[in-house]
Amino acid sequence: MQKAIELERDSNKINWGTLSGVVIFHLLAVSALFVFSWQNLAAGLILWWMAGSLGIGIGYHRLMTHRGFKVPRWLERVLGVLGSLAVQSGPITWVTTHRQHHAFTDTDNDPHSPRHGTYWSHMGWIFRGRAQNNSLQTMHRYSPDLMRDPFLVTLDKYYWIPTVIVATGLFAIGGVSMILWGVFFRTVIGWHFTWLVNSATHLWGSRRFETRDDSRNNGLIAAITWGEGWHNNHHAYPRSAKHGLRWYEIDINWITITVLKKLGLVRDVYAFNLESKEDVHIELNTVQEAA
Ligand SMILES: [Zn+2]
Ligand SMILES: [Zn+2]
Repeated sequence: MQKAIELERDSNKINWGTLSGVVIFHLLAVSALFVFSWQNLAAGLILWWMAGSLGIGIGYHRLMTHRGFKVPRWLERVLGVLGSLAVQSGPITWVTTHRQHHAFTDTDNDPHSPRHGTYWSHMGWIFRGRAQNNSLQTMHRYSPDLMRDPFLVTLDKYYWIPTVIVATGLFAIGGVSMILWGVFFRTVIGWHFTWLVNSATHLWGSRRFETRDDSRNNGLIAAITWGEGWHNNHHAYPRSAKHGLRWYEIDINWITITVLKKLGLVRDVYAFNLESKEDVHIELNTVQEAA
């Protein structure tokens, strides 16, 4: 714990482990382009959906960070494991950083605001400082709900293990070239798509709500992040599990949540309704798309 607190204080230290990991992943992602096959592409697309949509968008973000709906504990853990496949840190670290982003959006205490530079908000922030190395104290303060689950605490520490297991499976199915596509290329693309939510949707797009931050709705980013790009809607109503508020604001993650609800796996969904202008506790048959 003492070490963690020291790390947090040392906010200008370069995180060499993260930096070298990101460089190696990028090099291997580029090498994937030389061993293309349709099977490799399919492996990459399936894992991108599992890690990016189910894991990060629905699991880490809308469920664990904002508690926009409830799921059985086993499913929260499964979504946590899927989120770990995006190699963006474990769930508690991710949630702690993201709750800080919402608490201090576009201020000096925001871990990744473009007000400190576009490159900084995109990826610079993970190479320096404390954002990915929160002290135990900070994690208890921002994510007490997640710290109570010993499975998630262990997953947070060893978040790379599910990726190693998946890589082993890909090797058995399609050899090294399938690992390059299913792990490295897919992860690097997924990183940049997620990072664009932190950089681009605080810079470019439209603003429906006059929030105190710079958040924007950006259809292009929404298209590549399963709906996470309706970011001004999200900052205005963070708890809402529904980010796309008009029929044309396609939000795959929200559609998936409604399917999971139909299957009986999701309950107590909160969704903002543009017509009544309030967060409503909905049952599926009362879900209404705002006109
Ligand atoms: Zn934001
Ligand atoms: Zn959020």
